[in-house]
Amino acid sequence: MSVVPPPTSSAYVAEQPKVSAYEIATANFDRAADLLGLSDEWRTAIRTPFREMRVEVPLHRADGSLVVFTGYRVQHNGARGPFKGGIRYSPLVDFDEVRALAETMSYKTALVNVPFGGGKGGVNCDPRTLTPLELEHVTRRYVSRIHLILGPNRDVPAPDLGTNAQVMAWIVDQYGRQHGHAPAVVTGKPLELGGSAGRAQATGRGVMITALEAAQDMGLEPKGLRVCVQGFGNVGMNAALLLHERGCTIVGISDVAGGLFHPDGLDVVDIQRYKDREGGDGTIAGYTAPGVEGVAHEDFMGLDCDLLVPAAIESAIHDENVGSVRAKIVVEGANLPVTPEADRRLNERGVLVVPDILANAGGVTVSYFEWSQNFQQYTWEEEEVNERLGRVMLKAYRDVVGKARALSCTLREAAFALAIDRIVKAEKLRGTL
Ligand code: NAD
Repeated sequence: MSVVPPPTSSAYVAEQPKVSAYEIATANFDRAADLLGLSDEWRTAIRTPFREMRVEVPLHRADGSLVVFTGYRVQHNGARGPFKGGIRYSPLVDFDEVRALAETMSYKTALVNVPFGGGKGGVNCDPRTLTPLELEHVTRRYVSRIHLILGPNRDVPAPDLGTNAQVMAWIVDQYGRQHGHAPAVVTGKPLELGGSAGRAQATGRGVMITALEAAQDMGLEPKGLRVCVQGFGNVGMNAALLLHERGCTIVGISDVAGGLFHPDGLDVVDIQRYKDREGGDGTIAGYTAPGVEGVAHEDFMGLDCDLLVPAAIESAIHDENVGSVRAKIVVEGANLPVTPEADRRLNERGVLVVPDILANAGGVTVSYFEWSQNFQQYTWEEEEVNERLGRVMLKAYRDVVGKARALSCTLREAAFALAIDRIVKAEKLRGTL
């Protein structure tokens, strides 16, 4: 590993994924469909998105210039309930990515058995180059053009890469102007606008729960488990903090600005404080502490650890860096972070890979709790949310492990087989195809 200075730059690393998101989604689907013996007709019926929308999102910038972004919303499958899936703000957003992520959501909601289908949306803007007012304008423009296909019983977005609770608040407000106040139209809202206790940490909590189950299955104790987490945003940071709380040693973390490594453990609470400090740029750029080394992006996956959590971008583990992975367990905090070839090689080497539709399903599970609370006009305490989330995640994990044993297949194949089977059954019962 080459030692580099601590990260100093927060420029957006617009890395083009090594393998397109759609190719990864296709490989995931095909392997499970083969296991299920699904006919060609049903393969086409399940994979074809229900509806796709592309809209123009113009923005008059504060400096007087005009920028025109493109916004997308893909509704993949709604047989089991309203479409559900995040909205992403990133320069790399395109139809290929949104389609793949929408499809992934259909399988995720089916796997954890929440009454939703799958959808995804996004705008190809870089939120870190926009002022808060510009971000609000982009959000309102985007919603004003897609509002007819949204709704609490139709399509319910949530935060994703580059969006947060504030963006969800603007969506509630913009949607409400045309349809009347309807907080259940999005989840991941601020508490003051009908958000749920525990939602912000939910995806990271689900990652922590599945990671510790996987570790136990591999005969590893949480105490002293050496962990590396790529991405220090909603998913990565919360997963790192919760794993640290359970006694794991977080030896490596990275974000868009670069990585940090300490063989005896990083002080993740201190790094969180640094990242969130007043006047900072929201990244770990410039963080220093005794014994902490900077790590280049390209070296991060090869750090010495037991558990690796890619929680940032797609295709993070690919055929060029998979050979360097030393972890015994990979838990997919991000969506589609391992390419099919890298996945095959990890399995061959006996690395246990917990797939995204299982590992990061905590977010959509608590989104379901939030949506239910909005309909009930009743709020649950955080302990209740966390306890229910724990039950859902453990059941899903055990279901997947059981299926993998029954079919002698990987956790990924088992998870997709369970999910696809549930969707096919729902479609058949509806008789809509
Ligand atoms: P976020 O915007 O809060 O955080 C993303 C993090 O990744 C940031 O720390 C950013 O600096 C870092 N990053 C970006 N490019 C990087 C790179 N090249 N190398 C290392 N780090 C990089 O986003 P998030 O909500 O935490 O989402 C992360 C992933 O998890 C995405 O794939 C998203 O689809 C998935 N996911 C999110 C949720 C959720 O509830 N937020 C739920 C399920 C899945």
